[in-house]
Amino acid sequence: MRNRGYYDDFGGAYLPEVLVSTFDELEAAFESAKNDPRFWEQYIDMMSSYSCRPTPLTFAENLTRHFGGARIYIKREDLNHTGAHKANNVMGQGLLVKRMGKTRVIAETGAGQHGVATATMAAKFGFQCTIYMGEVDVERQRPNVFWMEQLGAEVIPVREGTRILKDAINEALRDWVTNMDTTHYVLGTACGPHPFPEMVTYFQSIIGKEARKQILEQEGKLPKRIYACVGGGSNALGIFHEFLKDPVELVGVEAAGKGLNTGHHAARLAGDDARVGVAQGYKTYFLQDSDGQMKETHSVAAGLDYVGVSPILAHLKERARIRFEAATDQEVMAALSLTIRKEGLIPALESAHAFVQAFKEAPTLPRSESILINQSGRGDKDIFTVADAMGDTKWKGFIMRKAQGYQEK
Ligand SMILES: *Cc1c(COP(=O)(O)O)cnc(C)c1O
Repeated sequence: MRNRGYYDDFGGAYLPEVLVSTFDELEAAFESAKNDPRFWEQYIDMMSSYSCRPTPLTFAENLTRHFGGARIYIKREDLNHTGAHKANNVMGQGLLVKRMGKTRVIAETGAGQHGVATATMAAKFGFQCTIYMGEVDVERQRPNVFWMEQLGAEVIPVREGTRILKDAINEALRDWVTNMDTTHYVLGTACGPHPFPEMVTYFQSIIGKEARKQILEQEGKLPKRIYACVGGGSNALGIFHEFLKDPVELVGVEAAGKGLNTGHHAARLAGDDARVGVAQGYKTYFLQDSDGQMKETHSVAAGLDYVGVSPILAHLKERARIRFEAATDQEVMAALSLTIRKEGLIPALESAHAFVQAFKEAPTLPRSESILINQSGRGDKDIFTVADAMGDTKWKGFIMRKAQGYQEK
């Protein structure tokens, strides 16, 4: 067993023998890139010319007035190319693939956002690209499948098992084992075997590096608290990482779905339903029953609907460095509506989880303090879900007809 990539007792790399040399190669390539200052410069150059970096830090003047407490700032990851922070990770891994001399990338995707981001990166770098997607997800995410194909990716519907994300992961791993020489597996979040959690955090840390500088410029001091939603944990680690040594409170917000007591949620760190275990090549808190069977998860936000969570976040929870909370689907809709009306911003449903907790706490803090919310993505993709949840009568018929056949939720 390799003993690298542990965060206290979490993380590691539990790999089948055939993949060990590929992970060694990846780890070596990442270490060399990390120690080469030109690599980070190259990354910054690419992100500023291709993905709107640095993204702005927006003062939410109307929301601040509405709550009458701490001054609210929003980090605008929604302005990235393809609409979310996912671009930071895939473009970074793309540069690394080039450095390793590989020519093909594969990924698995559930809601399709990571698939589109990966296919975009592959088009830009001229890589071959294969995306694995559960057959059920292919059906409900038609627009994303369309764009992945236009971008030149081959989308393979996975018919095994329950035909969703976890089955697509197995299929992608099978591909990787067969094609390791030419192929890199682009993992979408700060989970999985070492070095992925560290590597994804490294690329996403660009968010916090910018935000720290921006808030010091705009407020003249550090914020009191920072809020981020937590799916796998990449946008949260991205904004938190640069502040870990500062006297700043960090708050991760998970999906409470229909409520923490209902069994229909995806709260691994904020609830008491999760247990530490090893799955998908790493050790962390998973939502599993006493036999180790993975439970079904639920969230109105597809990007937060996942059984595992970053081992780095699990470790920072145990160390009491990050506090974890959870927001219900209903609370998320209310926070989303308010943000749209007050600021003219449309956060993704995932991001709106962070807004919920920030809105609960802002009024309890003095006006002399500031808080920062990471708006991980934009909400355009959520139009059908939001219209449905809001029971919008004027548009509902039209929107639902359009949605027929490719959107179930
Ligand atoms: C994918 C996604 C997430 C969840 O992923 P993390 O790795 O937890 O950041 C959050 N917000 C948006 C907009 C996403 O697309």
